[in-house]
Amino acid sequence: MKQSLLFVPTLRETPKEAEVISHRILLKGGYIKQTAAGIYSYLPLAYRVIKKIEAIIREEMDAMGACELLMPALQPKDLWLESGRWQDYGKELVRLKDRHDRDFCLGPTHEEVVTAIVRDYINSYKKLPLALYQIQTKFRDEFRPRFGLMRGREFIMKDLYTFHSTDADLDLWYDKTRQAYQNILNRLDLHYRIVNASSGNIGGASSEEFMILCDIGEDTIVYSDESDFASNTELCDLPVGALSPDGKGHILHAKGIEAGHIFKLGTKYSEPMKAFFLDQNQTQQPIIMGCYGMGVSRLLMAVLEQHYRDEVALWPDTIAPFKIHIIPLDKEGTKAYQLSEQLHDALSNRYEVLFDDRDERPGVKFKDADLIGANYRLVCGRKAQQGLFEVTNLREKTMVEMSFEQLLEFLF
Ligand code: ATP
Ligand code: MG
Repeated sequence: MKQSLLFVPTLRETPKEAEVISHRILLKGGYIKQTAAGIYSYLPLAYRVIKKIEAIIREEMDAMGACELLMPALQPKDLWLESGRWQDYGKELVRLKDRHDRDFCLGPTHEEVVTAIVRDYINSYKKLPLALYQIQTKFRDEFRPRFGLMRGREFIMKDLYTFHSTDADLDLWYDKTRQAYQNILNRLDLHYRIVNASSGNIGGASSEEFMILCDIGEDTIVYSDESDFASNTELCDLPVGALSPDGKGHILHAKGIEAGHIFKLGTKYSEPMKAFFLDQNQTQQPIIMGCYGMGVSRLLMAVLEQHYRDEVALWPDTIAPFKIHIIPLDKEGTKAYQLSEQLHDALSNRYEVLFDDRDERPGVKFKDADLIGANYRLVCGRKAQQGLFEVTNLREKTMVEMSFEQLLEFLF
């Protein structure tokens, strides 16, 4: 794509409101724009990254056997009365009325809607298990929206719900989801710990959180220096140096950003909402459920908190907004420009290529290229007459010279 057509409203000054590095990068680089407190537009660069994160999540969800659907954001009060959460959810729930004075809310999560869908269809153990997920905008009127997309009032979440006839089957699917979450976070090149957590107002028996380790995290976790033991301090507050409860190693503390939360719900929703099935003995039982959330827009920021250099993004290869950035250091009509354009045409049906066709000074082009953070930067200028490009791998910071032909061979 031609850079002159890409909408990236970069800022010269670092905005005052951005307290953390990821937020500064996103605002300065023209990735996002605040529309109201805790409410953002994802501009083209951020949206490219978001779609790649979503694609990774979809691949892992589909691979474990979950089925994608899309439920409404606008939800009737009646369903929330059935679950008891119309009262319990409190002020975070965005409530509104339609023109006929009927009450609705904007979904902060979808246990009610999904349970109501499934109860009308699942009547026998033969139709279980079932796993349904969606990627969708959620609404929560957070008391203190902050750090940009980290704690928004409108944000993108992946939510998965599973339905079972036995506890053992729930355990199996819980473990499958746990593994899928690990795959996703590994593919995003994130350092994280899985911690025991409290279940909050979603309810249920046991739950774990996926914490991205990072100083700006709002949660504190305690973990063992030698084993997998890790817990949110909400649940288990041990001092640094204490013996780990599993007897292996000693306790350390760290700050974490919650990227995902997985719950064994049991029958918390199926019972009050009357989602029943007939078991093998023709006895009516409430469906056993699990629910599993993952913050897509929050992940975009969490990745940045762990991947940057000199206040610009160093995207993992899997999610960079572009793979290749071609930059001629001369304007249209020159050899450098012509070679660059040819390369763009040769590569663009294979890769996501950005071609800096603008008549700008090299300094401006490089500064913008830093903010965009494509995996490979191909610069044609000083040695255009010899047909050579300077090829930089942004993450590894290596630079080599290659001819047009060598580049094609390297990239194909
Ligand atoms: P938190 O403790 O951070 O408020 P939560 O326990 O309310 O999170 P869940 O209800 O489990 O979160 O939601 C699933 C996922 O959605 C979270 O793990 C997080 O990644 C993301 N998420 C939750 N609230 C927000 C928000 N306000 N802005 C962005 N992402 C969010
Ligand atoms: Mg919350």
